[in-house]
Amino acid sequence: MSETEFQPTERSTIHRLPSRGIYDKAKVYEVLDQGILAHVGFATKNGPVVIPMGYARRADSVILHGSAKSRLLTYLSQGADVCITVTLVDGLVLARSTFHHSMNYRSVVVFGHSQVITEPSEKDAALEHLVEHLVPGRGADARGADEGELAATLVVEVPISDASLKMRTGPPVDETRDLEIDIWAGVLPLRLETGELIADEHTPADKPVPGYLLDYPAGRS
Ligand SMILES: Cc1cc2nc3c(=O)[nH]c(=O)nc-3n(C[C@H](O)[C@H](O)[C@H](O)COP(=O)(O)OP(=O)(O)OC[C@H]3O[C@@H](n4cnc5c(N)ncnc54)[C@H](O)[C@@H]3O)c2cc1C
Repeated sequence: MSETEFQPTERSTIHRLPSRGIYDKAKVYEVLDQGILAHVGFATKNGPVVIPMGYARRADSVILHGSAKSRLLTYLSQGADVCITVTLVDGLVLARSTFHHSMNYRSVVVFGHSQVITEPSEKDAALEHLVEHLVPGRGADARGADEGELAATLVVEVPISDASLKMRTGPPVDETRDLEIDIWAGVLPLRLETGELIADEHTPADKPVPGYLLDYPAGRS
């Protein structure tokens, strides 16, 4: 892996519409840093499984966490080949023919071999990084995990060995013969929006809302 590019490998080379493939590290990381939900795929004795999870990128790794009782985390903590996918859907592409309907998206697929983080201060730092990724500003605000909580949590990191970004942008691509059809065509942009904050019953009514929540960016998904 070079400093700026992932080397396309047999498993990470995009064959279908290769012009939509990007291996630039900064661009791959931009998508990983905007997303909050990953789909984590791995092989089990009963066949492949893909599980939705929160995650965070840290340097050239992806951090995952879960209960020490979790089947998934127990498996990953033993060291396993994993494939992690993060998808940002940007819009529905409405063409004049059903055939040319599409989606605008940015999606990243990364591969790596998981390794467990056992040292308590490293675990705590990784968990704080996870919270900080999900809600920038929250990591420094919330109480860190105590000894018992750390013991009840498995944290793994997956150093990224190969990765690709595939994206589609722009309007529909219609057949010339369809351009005269009397139908609206274009893009319906989609993005996840934040809703109104809901304080819990223990939060005093006059407690100011942290700025990092008021400023939480739309478009993460
Ligand atoms: C948005 C989101 C974020 C999450 N973040 C995390 C996280 O950061 N860490 C974490 O540990 N877990 C997270 N979860 C829960 C996670 O999806 C799993 O349910 C959990 O990790 C237990 O996985 P397991 O394989 O150990 O469970 P098991 O109960 O052993 O899984 C057995 C089977 O149950 C089914 N199953 C498991 N999970 C799901 C599911 N989510 N939806 C439907 N069927 C399921 C599957 O068929 C699976 O093969 C998240 C879920 C969602 C939707």
